[in-house]
Amino acid sequence: MKLKKTLFAGIAAVVSASTLLGSNVASAQKDWPTKSVQLVVPFAAGGPTDTIARLIAVPMGQSLGQTVVVENVPGAGGTIASTKVARAAPDGYTIYIHHMGMATAQALYDKLPYDPMTSFEYIGQVADVPMVLLGKKDLPANNFKELEAYIKANGSKVTMANAGPGAVSQLCGLLFQSRMGVRLTNIPYKGTGPALTDLLGGQVDLLCDQTTQTIPYIKDGRVKAFGTTTMKRLPAIPNVPTLNEQGLKGFEVKVWHGVYAPKGTPQPILDKINAALKKALNNPDVKKRLEDANIDIVPAEKISAKGLKDHLDREINVWGPVIRKANIPD
Ligand code: ASP
Repeated sequence: MKLKKTLFAGIAAVVSASTLLGSNVASAQKDWPTKSVQLVVPFAAGGPTDTIARLIAVPMGQSLGQTVVVENVPGAGGTIASTKVARAAPDGYTIYIHHMGMATAQALYDKLPYDPMTSFEYIGQVADVPMVLLGKKDLPANNFKELEAYIKANGSKVTMANAGPGAVSQLCGLLFQSRMGVRLTNIPYKGTGPALTDLLGGQVDLLCDQTTQTIPYIKDGRVKAFGTTTMKRLPAIPNVPTLNEQGLKGFEVKVWHGVYAPKGTPQPILDKINAALKKALNNPDVKKRLEDANIDIVPAEKISAKGLKDHLDREINVWGPVIRKANIPD
């Protein structure tokens, strides 16, 4: 009898503890966020991914009622940050912005400690950004034809910056070299922010970078633009021909971005992050800044978990064979 009573008391305690735990969890989700949210960026500050992150972080923070703090975790073309986020607590206080490197990494690295298709929750796509092949101001070549001749004559003496294995600057640079049938000296940085600084300073010859912050430098002649990675010329720099029209047929790289959270982040929190992201992308200042850099905000239906996950899946299948065929890295 005594034993029965103790047993019942024990069960009651367990039941009420788990009810309490359940209601604590529910209220934690309802009250989220009660402190600042960390938005992880897989590249150095001052680069294109960092710029987009900082642009959306402010209005997202305003919607959520807590600051969204950008944390740069550069290295290994974004895979260090992806690993960190995949292992972070799924409590909504860590979110992540990454570009198409999320889709290309599997083909570039033998073994990743995370799986792009299963280690994350998907919040939504953000924006598509074109790239431009840039050269330092003092490079003797003034157009694509002259660049071709210069590269043929100088081969591996020509240096090309990138943001590490898995970065789109590396992918774009290596695709360019594979199409030209040359091998340049590739120099990895922690992001194209610092790479662009070195291009401006003349320490490196070439860089393939997003338009996010390169357009003003192209316009005022502080860097040379040899071609865009788009099928059509960009309205912001109409005098810069596409690489496609200059002989590199079909050379197209458009850099897409997505926002993620660690796997297991509760749905009510994901919904709040998604709503804040959508609102940020509708913010007039954000829109203007992105438009000026020829960056396309994705259609509303793509700013969703399904929009991002389906796109990621497709891109893994598109880039895997391209990377293997181009033998990247060799
Ligand atoms: N644009 C860089 C890349 O090549 C990344 C960055 O710094 O945003 O992937």
